[in-house]
Order: sequence, then C-alpha cells, then structure tokens
Amino acid sequence: MSAEHELEVLNPATEEVVATVPAADAADVDRAVARAAVAQRSWAAAAPADRARLLRRFADAVDTHIEELAQLEVREAGHLLGNARWEAGNARDLLLYAAGGAERLLGKQIPVPGGWNVTFQEPLGVVGVIAPWNFPMPIAAWGSFPALAAGNAVVLKPAETTPLTALRLAELALEAGLPEGLFQVLPGYGHVAGRALVDHPDVAKIVFTGSTRTGREVMERCARLVKPVTLELGGKSPNIVFADADLKSAIDPFSFLDNSGQDCCARTRILVQESVYDEVRDLLADALSTVVVGDPADEKTQMGPLISRQQLDLVRSFVPEDAPALRGGAPDGPGFWFAPTVLTGERHDSAAACEEIFGPVAVLLPFTDEQDAIRLANDTPYGLAGSLWTRDLGRALRVSQAVRAGNLSVNSHSAVRYWTPFGGFKQSGVGRELGPDALAAFTETKNVFISTEGPAQ
Ligand code: NAD
Repeated sequence: MSAEHELEVLNPATEEVVATVPAADAADVDRAVARAAVAQRSWAAAAPADRARLLRRFADAVDTHIEELAQLEVREAGHLLGNARWEAGNARDLLLYAAGGAERLLGKQIPVPGGWNVTFQEPLGVVGVIAPWNFPMPIAAWGSFPALAAGNAVVLKPAETTPLTALRLAELALEAGLPEGLFQVLPGYGHVAGRALVDHPDVAKIVFTGSTRTGREVMERCARLVKPVTLELGGKSPNIVFADADLKSAIDPFSFLDNSGQDCCARTRILVQESVYDEVRDLLADALSTVVVGDPADEKTQMGPLISRQQLDLVRSFVPEDAPALRGGAPDGPGFWFAPTVLTGERHDSAAACEEIFGPVAVLLPFTDEQDAIRLANDTPYGLAGSLWTRDLGRALRVSQAVRAGNLSVNSHSAVRYWTPFGGFKQSGVGRELGPDALAAFTETKNVFISTEGPAQ
C-alpha cells in the first residue's frame, strides 16, 4: 500500500509506530455516506425512547472500556493517563446527557387564528464531523453524539495522527446495538477524505473543529451548497490578572500547559496589572521549575510531549533560543519534547503574542488599568475563552461583559463542561456545541399550520 493510502500512527513520547490504518478516499466517503443515509431513515423513525435506550447502552460500553480507551489515547496522542481517563469518561457522560435530549426534543404550539400551529425539530440527515488531534475522543464525541441523539447519522473523520480512539468508539457503538452504518469513522487525509465529506451533496451539515485556516476553507466550500456548519477554531485566550487577585491561583501554569498547550482554550496571553508584574513573574518562574515533564503513562508526570515533529518545529519557530523567557525542563532523546516557557520580552503585537502557538508557551504582558486590560484582551481576531482574576465583584462583572469571547471564567480556569454551551466569538468559530441546546444544532425547525375551518365550500 502506498503512503497516500494509509496513515501511520506514532507514539509521540517514543516515535514508535503504534498502528497503521487505511486512509479513506473519496469513493470510501461516497459509500459511507450512502450507508449512513439508509441507516438514518430508520433511526429517525424510531421512538425517541428507543434511540435513548441504545445511546445509554453505548455509554455503558464506553464505561466498561474506559481504561482501554485511555491507554489508546496515551499511545496515539501522548496524553497523560489521568487526563485520558477523564476524556473517555467525558465521552460516556455526553452520551448519557444526549440520550436524555433525544426524549426531550420538543416542538412548540403557537396560538394562531383559524387553526393550530405546531413546530417540529426534524433531524438533518447525515452529518459529517471532522475532528482535530488535540482532544481526539472528546471532540469526536461533542460533534457526533448530540447529532445521533437528534436522529441523524454521523460520518466522522478523525485527524490523520489520531484515528484509533475514534475507531474503537465506532466498534463499541456497534457492539452496543446501534444500527450498522449509523456512526461510521473514516480515517483519512484532510484534503482527501475531509474535503470529500465537505463537498458531498448528501451530507447535510459539517461540524468542523480545527485551525481557523482550514475552517475558513470548509466554510467557503459549504457555502457553495448552502450547507450549514458548526466551526470550532483557534484561540489565543487571555488570562487577565488584576493586582487584587489571588495571584498564586491566577497564574496556575496548567492554565496554558494542560495537554502540553495543545488546547484551543489555553490561556496563553497572561495580562498582568503592572504593579504586580514582578511578583507574578517570580511566581511563574517558581511554578515552571517544578513542572514534571516526561512519560505520559507515568501517573506522576504533569506534562507530556507534543503530538508530532511538525508541531515541535512550529512551536520552536516562535521561541528563539535567546528570547527572554522563564523556562522549565524537558527530557532529551526520542519524543517530541518542548519545555514549559513564558516569554517575557514580547510586544503585544509580536507573532508570539498574537498567533496561536499550540504548544506549552505563553507570553507575559503588563497592563495599566481596567480599560487597558479590556483593550488588550480584545485585541485579537480570536474570541474563544479567557479568565479574569479580581476580588472586586463589580469589576469582574464589567470585564466579563466587555471581553468578546465565548467561554469566560472568573477567579477560575474552569474546563469545558458537557452540560454548558461551548464555542467561539469572532474567528474562533460559528455556532455552539454542548449544553442544553446541543441537539437543536442538528435539527431543522418545521412549522405546520393545521386549519380548523374545514375545507372551503
Ligand atoms: P487542522 O485544521 O489542520 O485539521 C483539523 C481536521 O481537519 C483534521 O481532521 C484534518 O485532517 C482536517 N482537514 C485538513 N484539511 C482539510 C480540508 N481541506 N478539508 C476538510 N478537512 C480538512 O487542525 P489541527 O492542527 O488538527 O488542530 C489544531 C487546531 O484545532 C488548533 O487551531 C486548535 O485551536 C483547533 N481546535 C479548536 C477547538 C475548539 O473547540 N474551538 C478545539 C480543539 C482544537
């Protein structure tokens, strides 16, 4: 088989080959979409309680395989074992939450003269989900499971580097009794299988999570078919630290080091009120020096490798050896390692301060007052997440209203929850996933008026 027709999955901590899987081409996508369309028709016609029951069985199957899924994620993505267990648990929990949604997908009755008016939330049909490599399991789940619960079929294309957990989830779905063809996983290259899914006339919607650059292309191609999209894209999120904050909690380095910084919500712009800048810099230097970087399968490890050599080279390109910075340690030898780093000499408009690096690198920037903090926080094309730290309640409310981002936390670096909405402002995305309205994004609203006047005489 030529390299064009297969994907080699590497362990990012050792560079060893974990698996080789076939890469789907456009004909494979055609066949998968045709099978999905058949499965979807009977799935949509099934009673909501029956759909919910099968999704709960799927959740049970995930639950009994948490350890296996987590170990797979450690091997293919270099995630810490503890994080990977949480990620598999997140997929299970979302299945249970979405299953309840299947039973509560209600229409409305709207009073009108001369008849009854009712609305229906009808499934779209076949949904294409395109996932990135940074959180392979949760992101596959966020796009796919609410879509299934709302009565759709799903064809999921995982990232080239991380297809294994998604493939295992599809096997577990079948074992749990989901109909053949309803939830298919097609590993493949973005410009081949991803593009074929986007361009396919029988794919009713695309849920894309990935870079803003690719997201823009996906949106343009979907526009030709007037195909709806949900886009979850890049971020360069601020962590705004006022002088009156609990500084130690505010500068928790895992706010940007979690998943080795390969996190779209990473708080990589640390904005600090200038009166506490020196104190914060010293606290950060201490914190970075104690971060344990190494084997992700060792439960004592706090940060693992980057996903690939390509990602390592990209991260390095933002951090010249002589750049003024606070740095932690990282292993030598095989594996894609980069030390935790906070750049201290950047201007707010430098490349490192503006572009998404997607590695364990943040910039430390001073601000003068509340208005200056808001200005800097918003001075970005992104708007995904952010944190702000202050003991002044009024200021916390003012700043959280003024910062243009989809997911903010006050006096916390809270993670994404499956029962609250998630998504970005500006070039961080379009639409929302998760939360109580997750299923609605996978339906069309149909309005039906029923005359009570009888046929015209
Ligand atoms: P990427 O855009 O390179 O790839 C994402 C997916 O798109 C992959 O499956 C890839 O194969 C596919 N793809 C590539 N080209 C395509 C094309 N022309 N048509 C269709 N599909 C194509 O992104 P990545 O490097 O895998 O992921 C990292 C990016 O994802 C970061 O920018 C990060 O911020 C973003 N991200 C966003 C969120 C969010 O929820 N907002 C979550 C995680 C990651």
